[in-house]
Amino acid sequence: MKISKEIDKILKTLNNNGFEAYIVGGFVRDMCLGKCANDYDIATNALPDDIHFLFDKCIDTGIKHGTVTVVMNSIHAEITTYRSDGEYINHRKPEKVEFTSSLKEDLKRRDFTINALAYNNEIIDLFGGIDDIKNKIIRTVGSADKRFNEDALRMLRAIRFSCSIGFSIDANVKNAIKENAHLIEFVSKERIKTEFDKIVLSDYTENLKEIKNLSFFNFIFPNLQIAIDNDVSFDLISKAKKDTAVRYTLLFKLANTANPKDFLDKYKFSNKEKEEIISLVNLISINDLNDEISIKKVLSKTDKALFEKSLYIKKLLGIDVLKTEEIYLKIKDDPCHISDLKISGKDIEQLGISGKKISDTLLFLNECVIKDKSQNTKEKLLNIVNKHLK
Ligand code: ATP
Ligand code: MG
Repeated sequence: MKISKEIDKILKTLNNNGFEAYIVGGFVRDMCLGKCANDYDIATNALPDDIHFLFDKCIDTGIKHGTVTVVMNSIHAEITTYRSDGEYINHRKPEKVEFTSSLKEDLKRRDFTINALAYNNEIIDLFGGIDDIKNKIIRTVGSADKRFNEDALRMLRAIRFSCSIGFSIDANVKNAIKENAHLIEFVSKERIKTEFDKIVLSDYTENLKEIKNLSFFNFIFPNLQIAIDNDVSFDLISKAKKDTAVRYTLLFKLANTANPKDFLDKYKFSNKEKEEIISLVNLISINDLNDEISIKKVLSKTDKALFEKSLYIKKLLGIDVLKTEEIYLKIKDDPCHISDLKISGKDIEQLGISGKKISDTLLFLNECVIKDKSQNTKEKLLNIVNKHLK
């Protein structure tokens, strides 16, 4: 296993001072999968004060939970004192966490066997994580039912890992997802969005089929559960480039969601994300863009990058856009937007037009230019206003 020299130094410094220290979690999992990972979590029996004593640059990033970030060159390593979780409240977080001196206790609180591996010169595998990696299966550490009841986010993480690394979900885990699905409502909207973003950007989105008939998404995104239960294949999403808006647009299309706004609002997508996704969903629903004027009319209301993304998505969906593309390439630098007009709102105001009539006039002039780009000179546009609009 290849680790950076800084991490090696951190582990050795802790060991040479009488402490245990292991790389844990996602880094070890990803290395076993042959993936390059740079997110280092270290677990140790040293206490936060010991870590401050041993390393020069420390930041108390999560001191409440025993986490200190050690900065060495450009590496940021999160070092967390071994801990065990107390009773969980609200199906999400432990009421209190306690430091422990046992690596086993620390690994036991982790969600899945593949995330409960530790490494320092050799791999420590107390819960069968290596076998599960070999068999490509997601299993919880301990009873799935109990672990999901403690923290409902883990159900969504199981689905996310299934999609991101292409593993199937163990039958017991599936059963526990079905039993505990309703508890997902205890998880914050922000955490759900973070996991959804990761699902959408995954390499194995077809694995959404793993939760067929488990009623899970009914509580988050009912359309999606219906599509999964109806055997819609979601592999198209992983085939698309890793652009969040493109991939969400495909998700909504495959889940037959004509109006994604409710979902985007509920899960607090940023305004920029909402705007882009809603525009793309609308753009891909426009058919018959087979002449210059219809394409220019669409371009007058959107930007070119989005329009190009919409053609890309249509192609992925098997829609024939050859003709549209051919015309688009020919006219893409023609004026089609109000901002391309060789006349401004000020010019129109000077002609004695005011208020809302100014924007109506600009819209009208833009339509004239869309129909005939040779009209786009200041003189000709002023003429049109004088003749038709005053
Ligand atoms: P990635 O960073 O690639 O999304 P990860 O496995 O590193 O995946 P993190 O959220 O960074 O995930 O968490 C680091 C480790 O902490 C996990 O590998 C797991 O051992 C543990 N962990 C994270 N979230 C939970 C949880 N909700 N319940 C139990 N253990 C968890
Ligand atoms: Mg991580």
